[in-house]
This record gives sequence, structure tokens and C-alpha cells, in this order.
Amino acid sequence: MAADSPAISIVPSRESTVGSTVVRRALPQRDRRTVGPWCFADHMGPDDHPSGIGPHPHIGLQTVTWILDGALVHRDSLGTEQEIRPGQLNLMTAGRGVSHAEELSDGRGGLHGIQLWVAQPDATRGGPPAFEHHAELPEADLAIGTATVLVGSFAGATAATRRDTDHAGAELRLQRGRTTVPLDPTYEHAFVVLEGVGQINGSPLRPGRLAHLPTGVDEIDIAVDETARIMILGGTPFEAPVKMWWNYVARSLDEIDEANRDWIGGHDRYGDTGSRFDRIEPPAVSWTSGSPSGDGRGVSPRSPTPPTLPD
Ligand code: MN
Repeated sequence: MAADSPAISIVPSRESTVGSTVVRRALPQRDRRTVGPWCFADHMGPDDHPSGIGPHPHIGLQTVTWILDGALVHRDSLGTEQEIRPGQLNLMTAGRGVSHAEELSDGRGGLHGIQLWVAQPDATRGGPPAFEHHAELPEADLAIGTATVLVGSFAGATAATRRDTDHAGAELRLQRGRTTVPLDPTYEHAFVVLEGVGQINGSPLRPGRLAHLPTGVDEIDIAVDETARIMILGGTPFEAPVKMWWNYVARSLDEIDEANRDWIGGHDRYGDTGSRFDRIEPPAVSWTSGSPSGDGRGVSPRSPTPPTLPD
């Protein structure tokens, strides 16, 4: 354990639904909008009858899709059609605008996974959209299991995944026992249990909760009583406060309002996914239409809210 026992915060996730699938939303929380650049985390399912998600827009973020069970077909406005299966990674960079759909693969019923967003820095968030699929990812051996590195470096293994900021993500698959895992002390970290139960430096953790660790911690004890799968997300604290509403990550309401009006109006910044699913319309805006202002005039104190739909 680290010399100074770090203060772990345990934050309950909020239940929501995406399509017909129950999700546990670990991020964003009112008091914790980001962990490094990680700004959204939906633990989806397990769901025996998932519905898929029709075409919807994004700006200013990367979607990171990781599946434990089932399969999805990703279609986006770049022309990508890519099935993703357990152990593989889809990374879509929205930049100034992209749209995508997540359809269910034929003949595959269930779905269990996690959808993550990474806020893009000013350096790239106005840039072009992009997509990457990684069929194989590097692994690191741990005393009681294996870590698969989705992005960045963890426990000596480094992923080739695009990164616009200094961050990392890995999934730990652990057997009964206890181990110490190394952390980058320049990162803050979040832990999300996807299966099983565990203890992080003695604090109990189970699905539906997020454990947050501040910067300055270089290792941590993890114990599990049975098999468990735990997602670890880390990064240097993000460069600026983010504004999030629906599927948009930005810095101001003006940007969000413009992005949203462009989706409603069919602007070509979002292209066409070619999906057979119906496109998804945004919820009603929570600010004065046409005149949101970056200084908050006409806007309730907590607007824009975290996305009411994690699409
Ligand atoms: Mn999406």
C-alpha cells in the first residue's frame, strides 16, 4: 500500500436506460464530472434482450466501447461498418462532428459491456472525426490475473490506441486473492467493477459504484473473493471544465446549442451512417432556445445537465 493511505471516494452510479438496456452511469456525477479526460461511463447490462441504438451525433469526445458479452455492429458517418466482440476495442473520435449507430449482431442475443467517453483537448476537438478498431490488445500479468490495456500504459504494457491526452484504461480480470498494482502517480484514477466484488485498499467495491483516487498514489491493493472484472481509468486532471449535454462535450453552451441545432437541421458535419435504425432526436433543451450564453444568462445553475440519454 502507498505510504500515505489515500482517500478513496466511493460514489454510487445512477441507473438509467439506453434504448431498453439498464445502465449504471458512473460518470458524470454532479460532484465529479471528469477523472482525467474520462467524462462518461455507462456500465450496460447484462441484458438478454438489448435493442441497439439508432444514429445520433457526437462532438468533442472519443467513444470507447468495450464488451464483456455479446456483439455490436458499429456504423458511422465515416463509412465504417465494424463488428465488435468481447476483448476488442472500438474507438471513435468525434472532433467537430460525427454520427454513429450501434446495432445488434444477428443471432446474438445478450449484451454486457461498458461505454466510455474521453473528452478531447482543445488541440484536437475541432479536428476531423476518426475511427479505430483494435482486434487485439496488449496484456499484463498480475499476481492474481491479467490486465488488458485498452489505451495508454498499465503495469508495463502499452496499447497502440490513439490518445489525445495523457490517460490510460485497462480491464483487470482477477481470481480470488489479493495483489498490489502499480499506478501512475501523476494520474487520478477511477475503478468500476463490471463483475464480482472487490476491495480497493480495503474499501468494498461492487457493480453500481465508482471508486475515485486522487493524484499522488503510486500503487494500490486490490482484493477479490471470487472472480472479478474491474475497469481502471486514469489520467492527468483534465485541462478545462467540460460542458456536457446529451451527446455533446464542449466548453460552452453556445457550442452545444449550435451542435444540437445542426443535428436537428441535418447539417452535413454529421454525415450519414447508413443505418436501418431511426435517427435519435435530442431531448428538449434546458436553456432558452437560440440564445444560450456562455456566461450562463437565461440558464439554470446546473444546466446543461449531464446527458439525459447516453446516446
Ligand atoms: Mn454514441
